[in-house]
Amino acid sequence: MTADSLIFAYVALLLAAIAAIAGLAERRRRSFEPEPSEDTIFRCRKCAYVYTDDEDVEVSRCPQCGATNEAVEF
Ligand SMILES: [Zn+2]
Repeated sequence: MTADSLIFAYVALLLAAIAAIAGLAERRRRSFEPEPSEDTIFRCRKCAYVYTDDEDVEVSRCPQCGATNEAVEF
């Protein structure tokens, strides 16, 4: 084994270790952080009930009283 291949192996091993640590840290960070909500928040105009629905819907029916509401913009 030449010195060059030894250095290459060392660097490759180091990079693999860094990548593994970074991957683990990223996975750990993701599992601890709450999932960003993709839902749209609606507030009922009739009964003031606040609820969420899928983000791709523009008008949602209130689960409390059945009135249709538009998404709340913050
Ligand atoms: Zn309602």
